[in-house]
Amino acid sequence: MSTEAHLVTNTLRTLHRIHQQLEDLRERLERGPRLLRAQQVNIEQSNKALAAAEAEAKTLRIANDKKQLQLGSGEAQVAKRRLQLQQAADNREYQALKEQIAADEMTNSVLADEILEAMEKADLLAAKVAEAKAAVEKAARDSEKLAKSIAEQEPILRGDIDRIQQEMRQVESELPGDFKVLYQRLVQARGEDALAVVNGDYCSGCNQHIPVNMINSLMLATPIQCKSCGRMLYLPEEYNRR
Ligand SMILES: [Zn+2]
Repeated sequence: MSTEAHLVTNTLRTLHRIHQQLEDLRERLERGPRLLRAQQVNIEQSNKALAAAEAEAKTLRIANDKKQLQLGSGEAQVAKRRLQLQQAADNREYQALKEQIAADEMTNSVLADEILEAMEKADLLAAKVAEAKAAVEKAARDSEKLAKSIAEQEPILRGDIDRIQQEMRQVESELPGDFKVLYQRLVQARGEDALAVVNGDYCSGCNQHIPVNMINSLMLATPIQCKSCGRMLYLPEEYNRR
């Protein structure tokens, strides 16, 4: 490989690495707000689940309060009829009262069972509400932690990007004229995908075969694009010794 080809190959290799670093840094910079948005959705869902659990508990409580009142008046009714039973004027009235008391007691017993059942359900719902509350608090804490870490990371990432962009401009200035024109056109159009190393006899960008005459041109410091994907090609390190 000619000295000129050696130099330009090294420059292209460095530039490709720089573009990949920049892409990685930009991706990390964008990831933060994306994660934060996902966390926001999580908070909204947790709040909805809490509201639903609280509404369910409230509905049950109202229904059960109503049943408690019904049971209270049902029991008062039975007590009242027991008094009437003692003062019954004749056997017919006595029997009628006894039947009414039996029917009322049956209704009361059904109500009492329902109340007991509702109280068990209320315990389960209370646990569900507590769980939903804990989830809401955790989502808020997680979000706060994430926002803090993003706020800490962002200036560092931006600093890295600035530094690497400066390095990139420095390295770009080392490209020979004919390389620079093609490189700038491709970078503008496709960013980090502007470049590809020749891997074996293949383009590492699209895996198409690179004919030997193109490799020879690269060894002679001629700018070459992959015929298939259009990336600007450069040779890997092992060619430095050829
Ligand atoms: Zn290609």
